[in-house]
Amino acid sequence: MNKKEMKVFKDALLKEKERILKSITHLEENTQQSSRGNIAQSSGVPTHIADLGTDAFEKDLDLNLTSSELALLEKIEESLKKIEEKKYGVCESCNKPIPKARLRAVPYAKLCIQCQKAQEKEEGRQG
Ligand SMILES: [Zn+2]
Repeated sequence: MNKKEMKVFKDALLKEKERILKSITHLEENTQQSSRGNIAQSSGVPTHIADLGTDAFEKDLDLNLTSSELALLEKIEESLKKIEEKKYGVCESCNKPIPKARLRAVPYAKLCIQCQKAQEKEEGRQG
């Protein structure tokens, strides 16, 4: 991979990183707002147990989303480091170059498609 190509992927990674950082900040703002304001109280509607359940569920969903975004952010950081070390675009499992078409779709990919599929199969078996 030449310098110019490397820069394209680096830019894509930086852009994705920025997007995630923004979405995480947005989620945190939302969580703070929902814990501050009590909609049920202000509208005079009695709080039902069902409402509480939905609330807790939504909070869980937010947390899950944040942790998956954080995992993605970690992958991006690793890929950026690899670019600095000139090791970017090589499969961590079989050490073969990851196809550029795949990197264009998933710039933080650590594995080639074959190894990714094998890993997913493995994870699926574990439950
Ligand atoms: Zn591989």
